[in-house]
Amino acid sequence: MTTNGQPLIFEYSREGRRGHSLPELDIDKKDDLLPAALRRKKKADLPQVSELQLVRHYTALSRRNHGVDSGFYPLGSCTMKYNPKVNEDVARLPGFAHLHPYQPEGQIQGALELMYKLQRSLEAVTGMDQVTLQPAAGAHGEWTGLMLIRAFHEANGDTGRTKVIVPDSAHGTNPASAVVAGFEAVTVRSTEEGLVDLDHLRELTGDDTAALMLTNPNTLGLFERQITEMADIIHGAGGKLYYDGANSNAILGMTRPGDMGFDVVHLNLHKTFTTPHGGGGPGSGPVGVKQDLVPYLPAPVVQEKEGTFFFNWDFPASIGRVKPYYGNFGINVRAYTYIRTMGPEGLRQVSRQAVLNANYMLRRLEPYFDAPYKQHCKHEFVLSGSRQKKLGVRTLDMAKRLLDFGYHPPTIYFPINVEECLMIEPTETESKETLDEFCDAMIQIAKEAEDTPEVVQEAPHHTVLGRLDETTAARKPVLRYEKQEAVTT
Ligand SMILES: *Cc1c(COP(=O)(O)O)cnc(C)c1O
Repeated sequence: MTTNGQPLIFEYSREGRRGHSLPELDIDKKDDLLPAALRRKKKADLPQVSELQLVRHYTALSRRNHGVDSGFYPLGSCTMKYNPKVNEDVARLPGFAHLHPYQPEGQIQGALELMYKLQRSLEAVTGMDQVTLQPAAGAHGEWTGLMLIRAFHEANGDTGRTKVIVPDSAHGTNPASAVVAGFEAVTVRSTEEGLVDLDHLRELTGDDTAALMLTNPNTLGLFERQITEMADIIHGAGGKLYYDGANSNAILGMTRPGDMGFDVVHLNLHKTFTTPHGGGGPGSGPVGVKQDLVPYLPAPVVQEKEGTFFFNWDFPASIGRVKPYYGNFGINVRAYTYIRTMGPEGLRQVSRQAVLNANYMLRRLEPYFDAPYKQHCKHEFVLSGSRQKKLGVRTLDMAKRLLDFGYHPPTIYFPINVEECLMIEPTETESKETLDEFCDAMIQIAKEAEDTPEVVQEAPHHTVLGRLDETTAARKPVLRYEKQEAVTT
């Protein structure tokens, strides 16, 4: 049995074929070292293959994946930039990789120093007073930040603040985190220009407002230039400002959420700070807060006294731990390596390049697609496929057609306030040649939509698998290879 011509490893299996050579067993089998209850009753049903067959099997599987190391990956709001390999070397240094979370502080000064300095760097980048490295993802950071805001209001006896305001362009995790943290999520509209509608914000804000959650630049790639007015509206009503900093590569070294008036920030180290992601983890979503929220942080926080680093557990008003141990330390090592490699000027250059790349592509593509927002963008931009939809070609079809060119498609149908949306984030690490090749492919697809729409409607034509049933894949995932029911398309 094969999957589109690719043999599966069980079908290569032959009784007695070996992929290993181990020394003879030198333990007397009669010495029952394992209790009978723990021993297998039947031989494990493993494929019996040679080492070469095994290597080919996994290499074939790896080729079916698309990663940033194999090609362009302009997935908007995901920041699929290149992750420098030096990060991996440093994270694998035995002094970091072989630590045990229960080692006493005296033995792990280097690791604590790294965590402390990473906290300080992230505080400098965001303009916050104290960072915690505990949250394991962006959404986890959002939830942690909202729990901090909740604890703050409750400590002030301000228990009527039940609502969190979220723009209609926001990432889906924002309203979800608000609800999981026990709030009601209220949607504020965007204007024609793609920015928060201030009049609507004023209408929604009151003494039941716990916080406004905002992404700036927002998920349309646009900078909310009225941010200080928004901060005044929310603070004036006693609420807090939450900053979703998952994709911060347009603002590094340019502006800081702390200076815009935000009280809480989360960052995605696995987006902005070059730690690999896309396969579901591990990630890291540190949270930074202004001074008045520090007492509620999850303990412990790494601090320094006279050159010695230690875990400070003394947070009596803490919301409690949000993760076992201290966060995903290996990810912290990678992010810190990146920050030190780049330096302040390097981080600033990241922002310049990310913004330049996105604007370059926007201007090359806007004659061929509808561009709902005309102003300059930041690190990403959105196009609408509504012109092509009139020709019978949907955005989904165009995304599938891009696979034939060897690209990961952009994010589609998000943000939800743009019809037939395509959301493109080139990132700063791509060359002009790559951007041009991708734009050429997009332009070709726009022409195909006019001349030969069926080519786009029936895409992809050159991939191992065609169009998948994504709903069933999400609802009933097949996560184990079953020998009997070979996977078919
Ligand atoms: C990716 C992203 C998140 C969520 O981050 P996870 O680590 O996937 O939980 C939140 N907000 C924005 C804007 C994002 O792009």
